[in-house]
Amino acid sequence: MATIATSGTALSYTPSFELLNRWVIEKQLCCYCGTCAGVCPRITLDGKVPRLINYCSECGNCYKYCPQTYVPVKEFEEKLFPGTNKDESLGYYEKCILAQSTDKNILSIAQNGGLVTTLLIHALEAGLIDGAILAVAEKDWMPKPILARTPEEIKKAAGSKYVMCPNMFAYREVISDPTVKKVAIVGLPCQVRAARKLQMEPMIPVKNGKIEFIIGLFCHRNFSYEGLLLETIKKTLNIDLSNIKKFDISKGKLMVFTQEGKQVELPVKELSKYSWSSCSSCTDFTGRLADISVGNAGVIDLNWNLAIVRSKKAMELLDSAVKAGKLKIAEGGDAINAILKEAQKKAERREKVSEALYQHFSELGVPSEDVRVYFTLLTSGGASAVELSKALNIGETELGAILARLRERGWLVEYGDRYIPTRPSIVLRMETAKLQNLIKKVLEKEPELEGIYVRKFG
Ligand SMILES: Cc1cc2nc3c(=O)[nH]c(=O)nc-3n(C[C@H](O)[C@H](O)[C@H](O)COP(=O)(O)OP(=O)(O)OC[C@H]3O[C@@H](n4cnc5c(N)ncnc54)[C@H](O)[C@@H]3O)c2cc1C
Ligand code: SF4
Ligand code: SF4
Ligand code: SF4
Repeated sequence: MATIATSGTALSYTPSFELLNRWVIEKQLCCYCGTCAGVCPRITLDGKVPRLINYCSECGNCYKYCPQTYVPVKEFEEKLFPGTNKDESLGYYEKCILAQSTDKNILSIAQNGGLVTTLLIHALEAGLIDGAILAVAEKDWMPKPILARTPEEIKKAAGSKYVMCPNMFAYREVISDPTVKKVAIVGLPCQVRAARKLQMEPMIPVKNGKIEFIIGLFCHRNFSYEGLLLETIKKTLNIDLSNIKKFDISKGKLMVFTQEGKQVELPVKELSKYSWSSCSSCTDFTGRLADISVGNAGVIDLNWNLAIVRSKKAMELLDSAVKAGKLKIAEGGDAINAILKEAQKKAERREKVSEALYQHFSELGVPSEDVRVYFTLLTSGGASAVELSKALNIGETELGAILARLRERGWLVEYGDRYIPTRPSIVLRMETAKLQNLIKKVLEKEPELEGIYVRKFG
């Protein structure tokens, strides 16, 4: 039975569906990536959340591979992308370039420059992969995860569906089909994290868990099918869903293109109530663990892509597609600054901690600024002094004093230039022990105080 290490305490947790439910699903942090159902036949997806349909044997796989549980991002980055450029917000990368497919047919069906579809077909035709995990639109743009095995199936999945699609559910087919030896996975940054976990620590006894390439899509936020398609496009904009040719979210607008060539627009801020709950605390814009991350942000022409090439493997794939005349590429230019800004803004999102919790911690006799720094470290997964100072708008000297107090209290440790919060269960136990000691000391004074009372009042 696997347990989660809880360094220094007697606490231990058995990773199970119950734990996934309690710490991810019930907390509304599930990004509906499909991984848990992809790795376990006892889990089903009901369109909004995963559900256990059978007895849970507590193998821990659903918990381990969920992208909303611990992901050793820094460790993975160092192993995967050695010797590349490193940026705090964009992650590690070899190169940032603009790219466009030379295939007119692909350009006519793709979301932007068709880089994703072109790379996948090239990899398939070169025998580098046997298939690709993708999102295809079914009737009325209902998205469905598929394992595409032919160029035609890859083309059928082209185009962005700005709604949650549990792509990783299709990993079930990768596990069960022995004829599938190597696949590519296309996903949003949250799905990329799950794919990378499955590749770096495979659950199947096959090298890299059969995962050859991971292609990430830039993502600011995503929406529910009911909210975007049914409520907004069908009801508010009065567009029949079967009449949609394509839709896009760019420069603050939702744009719907109909089959008759009409274009309808709506400010994207009107969609915020339909945003998926996990997106509000998601900090990764580019998919920093992908081999290559693709989007259009910062590019003037919607028919081009901006790509962040991270791994040597992705660089080779791109080069060979260019050599084969399937792609045109150009320098990234100003587009990189635009995504950098977008990535920095998204990195500031945090999981919320309730005001009541701040209050309770402050009641332990800890200054409220110290509690705020501790919770910021907790929700950001650790930070440097510079990041903390920027996020909390606290000056260097004051922050230095707070960090020293927290270190002395045992609420954080230093790791290189970063501060890592101590596990809350340990913090709570340490504070409880301190309070118990204090109460013991006060109780020792009870006879002395009682004596005064008795002498004065009888
Ligand atoms: C929900 C969402 C939000 C995005 N947000 C941004 C953004 O803020 N800024 C930005 O620059 N770019 C964003 N993108 C990426 C952009 O829309 C294009 O996907 C990207 O530029 C690739 O273009 P392409 O022409 O190469 O894609 P194509 O060649 O058309 O291929 C697109 C691929 O994306 C996959 N896909 C489509 N929808 C989904 C989905 N819902 N979940 C998982 N995979 C899917 C398809 O299977 C297909 O393989 C977003 C994409 C999605 C799906
Ligand atoms: S059997 Fe394993 S993968 Fe399936 S629900 Fe239980 S812990 Fe999760
Ligand atoms: S985030 Fe993915 S793996 Fe985690 S619970 Fe949701 S669907 Fe399952
Ligand atoms: S914002 Fe984050 S959690 Fe939401 S769909 Fe995009 S990558 Fe996933």
